[in-house]
Amino acid sequence: MRDPRYDILFESVQIGPVRTRNRFYQVPHCNGMGHVHPSAMASMRGIKAQGGWGVVCTEECEISPHSEFSPYIEARLWDERDIPALARMCEAVHQHGSLAGVELAFNGYSAPNRYSREVPWAPSDTPVRGYDPVQARAMSLADIRQLRQMHRAAALRARSAGFDIVYVYAGHDLGLPFHFLTPRNNRRTDEYGGVLENRVRLLRELIEDTRDAVGDRCAVAVRLAVDEQIAAGLSHEGEGAEIFTMLADLPDLWDINVADWSNDSMTSRFASEGYQETFLSGLKALTSKPLVGVGRFTSPDTMVSLVRRGVLDLIGAARPSIADPFLPKKIEEGRMDEIRECIGCNVCVSGDHTSTPLRCTQNPTMGEEWRRGWHPESVSPARSSSRALVVGAGPAGLECARVLGARGMEVALVESSRTLGGRVALESKLPGLSSWSRVIDYRLDALSRMDRVQIYRQSPLEAQDVLDFAAAHVFIATGARWRRDGLGRALRQALPGLESLPILTPDDVMGGALAPSPVLLFDDDHYYMGSVLAERLVAQGVEVVFVTPAADVAAWTHNTLEQHRIQRRLLELDVTIIASHSLMTVTSDGVIASCVYTGRPRVIAVASLLLVTSREPEQALFRALDRPDEELREAGIQTLLPIGDCLAPGTIAAAVYGGHRQAREFDAPAGSLFMRREITCLEVM
Ligand code: ADP
Ligand code: SF4
Repeated sequence: MRDPRYDILFESVQIGPVRTRNRFYQVPHCNGMGHVHPSAMASMRGIKAQGGWGVVCTEECEISPHSEFSPYIEARLWDERDIPALARMCEAVHQHGSLAGVELAFNGYSAPNRYSREVPWAPSDTPVRGYDPVQARAMSLADIRQLRQMHRAAALRARSAGFDIVYVYAGHDLGLPFHFLTPRNNRRTDEYGGVLENRVRLLRELIEDTRDAVGDRCAVAVRLAVDEQIAAGLSHEGEGAEIFTMLADLPDLWDINVADWSNDSMTSRFASEGYQETFLSGLKALTSKPLVGVGRFTSPDTMVSLVRRGVLDLIGAARPSIADPFLPKKIEEGRMDEIRECIGCNVCVSGDHTSTPLRCTQNPTMGEEWRRGWHPESVSPARSSSRALVVGAGPAGLECARVLGARGMEVALVESSRTLGGRVALESKLPGLSSWSRVIDYRLDALSRMDRVQIYRQSPLEAQDVLDFAAAHVFIATGARWRRDGLGRALRQALPGLESLPILTPDDVMGGALAPSPVLLFDDDHYYMGSVLAERLVAQGVEVVFVTPAADVAAWTHNTLEQHRIQRRLLELDVTIIASHSLMTVTSDGVIASCVYTGRPRVIAVASLLLVTSREPEQALFRALDRPDEELREAGIQTLLPIGDCLAPGTIAAAVYGGHRQAREFDAPAGSLFMRREITCLEVM
């Protein structure tokens, strides 16, 4: 079954008083469920344990209203009443023989306390992070004593909930202990400020307090960012390593990463697998305690190499465990080709940023384990033995066919072009997006193992072809096309004067069309497409003027932790950025744009215009087939459903989810579908 090369990954590791069942460690990660949707969070974590993760941790867990993270939804252990929700998670994790870890967090000036209205604490007086008009106050020695008591009390509550590993959190430039470490945040002149020994004092005390409170039964872990990748920050070659050395053997486990979060959770557009190794290497030699670290690891060979070379003891993962909760089991059972590898897109992160349950491009069941009862590895057999036809092999069609096949149906997946993968096949050729082809790879590989699924390429279907196919269940996944008229969020009507200049769409550029230079790229999409096309065009020698109605480039990518990197890259490529401008009209001399605030017009002399605004669903086939139910039935069709971008253009994650959902639910008895939700119970007045 298992390749003996990977045996080392299944060795257990002693962490203080507890022992793991293997080296697979789901490090803390946010999920947009936390204390608001605790059963959903517990089920999601339980499935990770079932999938073989030897340790499964919470997200950040607030220890007190003195530092709460609203509107972001995290775990909570403010008082005894929060214990049952987290006990539910511990039970779900223990049920599969894994250890449960909790990341106790007190975030100082990183949390403006919007809900509790407590004045935030910091080592020194400072405005809070972000733009809230709030300042944190310098902590007194009494405050520090109170913080230590709160942390200790939360550790005891964590032990009562059933946790095996309790964290002291000094990561990401978020946790208060981290703020004490860094001179730019800590300007104190007492025993907690100044020389490094003093700045480390609070972290040392919290580790000692936690061990004293719960160390008999729980391991004490420290999450420390050893490098911030900024000039005035900690560096793994400087104080980051010194701090680690000073505390080397104090905790039971080191969880090492980099700050801030955007450096820790880099997308595949900006970093490849294993990108944190530089910051981790050498640390293990400085401690006798086990070390866990991350780097979007999905390759078992990389994992083995990290352990063998003495870089890590435990393979940390957040995103790879989200994309495939069963990654360890698949390695254990020699099913490596079934691993659903994370594509590094950070759509998962957007759940936290938008305070909504986690979602994942690769794993459409993520966040749906409890509320819809979806399992990442199993589906119920179909209720119908009739044939299914899926038209279009983009992410929606591929996923729909995969799930129908897994449900035991006979499926024909028909694609008009030679290439399978639809938009993903095209987009993964754009600069930095090659990992996205994993969306196709995973699904094609799964389909290749299904005898009852037939794939037909180069077969554009028309309505009569579909009827001739005589399939009872028809799923139309014909995708969408980028609009050529500028219509989108800013322009609700077609842009006047389009005939005056060469007009291109993203489909044209992805199809190989060259834009006459200079080109005005109008980005009213605000996600990745505008910026990756700008990169592609610059690489082709085209001068790009990037115009967007938003205040910054690719505004939605704040939610994927990429915005600053994208803007920096375009600036470095000498792309001219004109923000806060919409378009008014096109002339043969160029485009007239206008300021979104003042309306003041501005002529931009360009030779062509690339419109990245919105997409039109490709519904011609669906509309040609759509007719009243009785007529459909007469034609032998029981189900006719548009899915993915054909229904409504959106993210790749939404297309995969749409295909998955319809394949699971199309034959559900009326009234049997539901979405569970947890309702706050009323306190006694
Ligand atoms: P989604 O994201 O919803 O999966 P895509 O645009 O990625 O949508 O994929 C749609 C796929 O459908 C493309 O590969 C396209 O070539 C294919 N397609 C579109 N119309 C037809 C048709 N009439 N017959 C067969 N395949 C089609
Ligand atoms: Fe990976 Fe993207 Fe899924 Fe996040 S959403 S786990 S980055 S595939």
